[in-house]
Amino acid sequence: MTQTASRPGTGALKPLPLDVEAIRADFPILSRTVRDGKKLVYLDSGATSQKPRSVLDAEREFYERYNAAPHRGAHALAEEATGHYEAARATIGAFIGAPEREIVFTRNSTESINLVAYALSNAATAKDPAFREYAVGQGDEIVVSEMEHHANLVPWQQLCERTGATLRWLGLTDDGRLDLSDLATVVNERTKLVAITQQSNILGTINPLGEIIARAREVGALVLVDGAQSVPHQPVDVTELGADFLVFSGHKMLGPTGIGVLWGRYEVLDKLPPFMTGGSMIEVVRMEGSTFAAPPQRFEAGVPMTAQAIGLAAAVEYLQALGMDRVEEHEKLLTGYALEKLAEIPGVTVIGPQDTVARGGAISFTVEGIHPHDVGQVLDDHGIAVRVGHHCAWPVVRRYGVPATTRATFYVHTGYDDIDALADGIRAAQKFFGTV
Ligand code: PLP
Repeated sequence: MTQTASRPGTGALKPLPLDVEAIRADFPILSRTVRDGKKLVYLDSGATSQKPRSVLDAEREFYERYNAAPHRGAHALAEEATGHYEAARATIGAFIGAPEREIVFTRNSTESINLVAYALSNAATAKDPAFREYAVGQGDEIVVSEMEHHANLVPWQQLCERTGATLRWLGLTDDGRLDLSDLATVVNERTKLVAITQQSNILGTINPLGEIIARAREVGALVLVDGAQSVPHQPVDVTELGADFLVFSGHKMLGPTGIGVLWGRYEVLDKLPPFMTGGSMIEVVRMEGSTFAAPPQRFEAGVPMTAQAIGLAAAVEYLQALGMDRVEEHEKLLTGYALEKLAEIPGVTVIGPQDTVARGGAISFTVEGIHPHDVGQVLDDHGIAVRVGHHCAWPVVRRYGVPATTRATFYVHTGYDDIDALADGIRAAQKFFGTV
């Protein structure tokens, strides 16, 4: 049944495009209770999402029926495991408009970003001149933004330390947007790579990538898009994006933990040396040295996360059946409702854009007079799971002068009732701490 909610004075809210009750029934964990029998209200999908039964079944089936190391054995199980693993690559590629050979499986977004960062520094010392085109060194610049998750910041700081390159960044405006006023100087002829998030995990801001990528192209820089918070929540097509790399994590999009994706334009991937080396990423191995396989195998050393890749393909199929346009619209309505509900509570301040324009469903807020961790604790007492802290985006909380925030994030099983519960929980925290 679709959920509607009424707003006093302003009439009924728009029905949500997704059937929340039917979707909830697909997620076994959502039927459990927490903290002395309270209904679980899961508002922490931005940290990690829950998994529908079809994903759990896909993983179980792998282990029960064709568990084997793909791309290695000649036996029946190995052949089946290889078939399912490569079919998963095709399914996940199609989800973002990419051919299979451009999909590299990693553990998560963090590993995907490190893969690129290490490939760029390894390029500087590569024996094979074919791998040196994208080498980063002294005098080069890497550009990030002040709203990056640590996963898209620390690896670039480290790349700069290893190579002598310089890290530069785009700042933030007071209303939680990227400050692009100095884009033309920050991204310049020395820029080797721009690494930028499509959607902020803490502010919810959706960035104007078109403008940034166009500038990067003008100066011949590579572009890596952090899609950890966008690919799960909106349609993303790499042919429209115009970047060179896109990273995302399976566990944030209904898939298993331990599986992530690096999409790379083939012409670029083909010129990068490996990050990790070992089994199955080689072409020829002699005691004197080795040559490497073509992408994506060049970047998948060792027995891969097979069950997890297959589980992620099942998650993608689940999302495709819902329709990513509807997922996006669903979350937009929830975000609008949440912004309204929180604005009604005196003492609550949302950090980030105050409306739903170019904004996703990550809502970070502070409650006057109560530490965010205490807010989180009272919410937890009511069965409401949110995240508290700096959300691995420490420069952002510093920029907005707060020690931390409480963050609610939404997904396909979130309904208006969850947001009502959040608002009630915040009021209960205010009552508990005597701030109202
Ligand atoms: N980028 C963003 C925007 C994120 O929100 C996260 C995780 O929250 C990451 C990167 C890192 O993802 P993972 O921990 O799955 O590698």
